[in-house]
Amino acid sequence: QSKLQLVDKHIGVFPDFPKKGILFRDICPLLKDPAALTASIDLFEEHVKKNYPQVEFIVGLDARGFLFGPLLAQRLGIGFILVRKKGKLPGSTVSVAYELEYGTAEVEIQEDAVAPGQKVLLIDDLLATGGTLFAACELMRKQQAEVLGCMVVIELKELNGKDRLKPHSVFSLVRY
Ligand code: IMP
Repeated sequence: QSKLQLVDKHIGVFPDFPKKGILFRDICPLLKDPAALTASIDLFEEHVKKNYPQVEFIVGLDARGFLFGPLLAQRLGIGFILVRKKGKLPGSTVSVAYELEYGTAEVEIQEDAVAPGQKVLLIDDLLATGGTLFAACELMRKQQAEVLGCMVVIELKELNGKDRLKPHSVFSLVRY
């Protein structure tokens, strides 16, 4: 079976979580299976080496972007940067607020996390509406870093997150 099939087979699905009407996609089975996890990082690595050999940092989103980002960064021999939910990072920080279904949230990086002109790729577990990755792109823009693209394990097509993130490209391993 292909690497993609191996990844796809290890995505769990839970109806009505965290609330009624939501079909929750779960990456826990993927993390639990070493061959499937390796396959997912292989696929990201192949995509980056082919399309973005100039990338300088992988930027991961709190919290499940932290599970894939550092593994990928190590493969590529580059550093990993954390985009965290507000209030978790020490020192001077920069933040961007964004809309949730109910209320707002804020993402944050350390002010010196990236320098102007540095080339980054963003990674998270899942793209839904794109609000979270959009806010992270805004953070990069504020710091004048160059976003080469976004990457996710799972894309939920119906929610049109890809459009929200334009002109940035989104690479996903599996789409539902
Ligand atoms: P967005 O901002 O609407 O694109 O939502 C993406 C964020 O919400 C990501 O950080 C995901 O981890 C989380 N998320 C939304 N839906 C799911 C899901 O079905 N499974 C796992 N995480 C989800």
